[in-house]
This record gives sequence, C-alpha cells and structure tokens, in this order.
Amino acid sequence: MNILVTGGAGFIGSNFIDYVLRHTDHRIINIDVLTYAATVPDFSAVPSFSSDRYSFIQSNIADITVDQLRAFAITHVINFAAETHVDRSISSPDIFIDTNITATYLLLKTLRAYHQIYPDVKIVHISTDEVFGQLRVQDAPFTEDSPYAPNSPYSASKASSDHLVRAFHHTYNLPIILTNCSNNYGPRQYPEKFIPVIIHHALQDTAVPVYGTGMNIRDWLYVEDHCRALYLILCKGHSGDRFNIGGSTEKTNLEVVHTIFDVLGKTPHIAFVQDRQGHDFRYAINSCHLYTTLGWKPHTDFQHGIACTVEWYLDNQEWMEQCVPLV
Ligand code: NAD
Repeated sequence: MNILVTGGAGFIGSNFIDYVLRHTDHRIINIDVLTYAATVPDFSAVPSFSSDRYSFIQSNIADITVDQLRAFAITHVINFAAETHVDRSISSPDIFIDTNITATYLLLKTLRAYHQIYPDVKIVHISTDEVFGQLRVQDAPFTEDSPYAPNSPYSASKASSDHLVRAFHHTYNLPIILTNCSNNYGPRQYPEKFIPVIIHHALQDTAVPVYGTGMNIRDWLYVEDHCRALYLILCKGHSGDRFNIGGSTEKTNLEVVHTIFDVLGKTPHIAFVQDRQGHDFRYAINSCHLYTTLGWKPHTDFQHGIACTVEWYLDNQEWMEQCVPLV
C-alpha cells in the first residue's frame, strides 16, 4: 500500500504514521502545510519517520495535484488535515472555514479526478463526535445515525466537510469512508488542548484553568487505539461506510484533572474560569458498528493511557515550553 496521509505532522496523523511504519511495510507520503499545530516539525523526534518508506511534502491539501498522487502511485488516502481547536474557532473562525470546508472540498475534487484514473483508490476522512452536538446525562451515546447538530464554528466546519464527503460518495461514487471519533489523548498533542494544559500546570505548580464547574463530560480514547481502528478501517472498511470510534470512557473534566495529578503524586490546584461560549455539556460515542463489523475494541484503559501520556510530556518538557501560548 502507498498511503497518502494529510495532516500527518499533527497529533493524530503523526501517531497514525508512526503506527503504520512500525507495524507494516507500507509506504507513507505525508502532506502537511505545517501550521502552528504541527507537533512534528522536527521529524527526527519520531524515530520511525527516518524510514526510507516515509516521504514528506509541505503543502496545503487544497494544492495537492493528481500528478503528485500518480507520481507516488497512491493506493490509499487518509485525511487528518484540519483546524482543530474549538476555542480558536470561537475567536477566529475564518481559517476553520478555509481549511475544514474549502480546502477539504478542493482535496475531494482532486481525489475525484484521481479516482477516474485509479478506480481502486480507498479514502478515509477523519471527523469528530462534536458534529452531533451535545448530550444530556440521561441520553444514549451517539450512533452513526444520530442527527447532526454542531454547536461551535469548529464542529460546524467539520460537519460541513462530512456532508461534502457524503455527497461526493453519493453523487460521484467516490470510494470514501467517514469516521467520527471522540476526544483523543496521548503523545504529541499540541499543548493548548485540555490534557496537555493540565500536565503543564501540574508540572509548573500553577492553577489548572477549568471551564465553568468542571462537570462537562468527554469520552476519552488513547490515540494509539484510534490509530489501530483507522488502520483496520483503511484496510477492511467498505466504500460509503461510516464508523463511530469511542473509548467508552466518559469522564468529567474534574475527573481528568484528578487522574493526572494522582499519576504525578501531586494535589490539584484548580482555577475555575468563565465557561466557554456555547460549551457542549457531554459527548459519548457508541462504537458497536466498529466492534461488530471489524472486531475493534480499545486496549488502553484511561489510568494506563494517562500514565503513558504524562511520561511522554515529562520527557519532552522543552518542546512543550516552545509551543506557547499555553492557556
Ligand atoms: P492537529 O491540530 O494536531 O493537527 C492538524 C494537522 O493538520 C497539523 O499538522 C496542521 O499543520 C495540518 N493542517 C492544517 N491545515 C492544513 C491544510 N490546509 N493542508 C495541509 N495540512 C494542514 O489535529 P489532530 O488533533 O491531530 O486532529 C486530526 C483530525 O482528527 C482532525 O480532522 C480532527 O478534526 C479530528 N479529530 C480530532 C480529535 C482529537 O481529540 N484531537 C478527535 C476527533 C477527531
């Protein structure tokens, strides 16, 4: 397989590349424009990236050409490239529209043209559970049939790209699979996101900023489990299928803070801050379709995954401090 990974210098994309290079003999072509969120600007930071099966091109997904896809004889495509931080989407939504909608549309156009030349190409588009909106405590987790109700500019832009993906499959028969995943955590997540923010403040002995009352709930999935699911879907999923991917690990934000401080053997110091505008209360994912069709289940329990994550950030504190601004 010759796999084009877009956004492969970011958090999940870089973990996916690392997973594939370590577990298979496939070739990877990573195309990433390297925004501030590219956590692997120095590719030597990940040993597997020095493989001769790995190539990198710095480019916007909007500018990928059919000639490039032909030159690398691409057989599979997995699209991670996106703007991803909800708070940034609230303060500066324009880039979310440019990347998550317009650039994704242009990528789909290129893939459609490539599909006409290479009909066997397989494509996976990565999306989020946030497109489904929010749940109350008593609601059942989101399934693949849950209605879309995005609440932030981020989730609305991701929902838009999901609709374009669906339309390109339905109208042009583009062989594409859509995945909607819950919150990921693990190595190389940009330090503006919640778990690295907690780790940063815990290490600095400063107060962890927590929105509102800290009772918002997220369903956490260790990034390697997500990557394993995506690789299975890329290999075995069928065109037009959809998969929800979740950790079945619902935690309040306060529970997450306490778990991290417990791992570090410290007492939490929390600063409750004004709630995020339009803050979704709860997300939870029902992954039964993925369990039953492809036999996937998460392997990493939250306590162990957090311990591994904390260890990685402890080993990479210099990198973390260079990634300011931190919340
Ligand atoms: P990230 O912000 O860490 O990385 C995104 C990467 O995309 C960066 O390397 C960036 O340089 C690149 N990029 C941005 N715009 C680009 C463009 N126009 N052309 C080429 N590259 C571009 O994001 P992440 O957390 O790794 O998320 C990856 C995907 O997974 C996103 O689509 C996101 O919506 C989805 N997702 C993330 C989570 C999560 O918890 N992190 C959960 C569910 C779904």
